[in-house]
Amino acid sequence: MAIAFETQRGALIDACLQLADQGYLAGTGGNLALRLDEAHFAVTPSAADYYQLRPQDIAVLRLDTLAQVQGEMAPSVERGLHAALLRARPSFRASVHTHQPLASAVALLNRSLPLSEPADVADLGPCVQIVGYAPSGTAMLVSTLRRALRNDCHAYLLRNHGLVCTAADLAAAVPLMGRIEAAAAAHLRQEASRLPMGHPLRELALEACGATHFQ
Ligand SMILES: [Zn+2]
Repeated sequence: MAIAFETQRGALIDACLQLADQGYLAGTGGNLALRLDEAHFAVTPSAADYYQLRPQDIAVLRLDTLAQVQGEMAPSVERGLHAALLRARPSFRASVHTHQPLASAVALLNRSLPLSEPADVADLGPCVQIVGYAPSGTAMLVSTLRRALRNDCHAYLLRNHGLVCTAADLAAAVPLMGRIEAAAAAHLRQEASRLPMGHPLRELALEACGATHFQ
């Protein structure tokens, strides 16, 4: 029997694997969503091993009610977060939530991540906007994010949690996550270099932010 939206659900898995290979999903953390048509979106399952996923495991939900219409596994607990973003950005198809290490470190500092590379500003806006803390998978997190939404920002840091980003499609979204991680590394290096020489956090932070190669 044919699987509804099989190509799009397969593309969502491919994007997951690319991000998981980079260590951005931290085990079974993080989740991805893709707009399928005017009324539906696909979202990765809750607590799944991304390397075992099949297209039929990807949940298909109504964008308005979040009712599940397809998929053999339960949808991600962050389905409401993705739906809110896709509803707020009607021209965008992809919504990606990661626990990538350096952007998450900036989210722990409870501050927006400034963007200075012209390509980043063009694609993401002037910063990755900080969103106040609310527990994972809750309506409170969705409403906190909705209140923080800015027309000129396409990526948001969730305080003490991770990152969420919207993009035109999955092919555009995946490299954006790496560019945000590079911007987070540059920001943390700059912050660490302000600490006095010999400060243990200075050496730790500089090593953590310099050890990974980006681009
Ligand atoms: Zn999360």
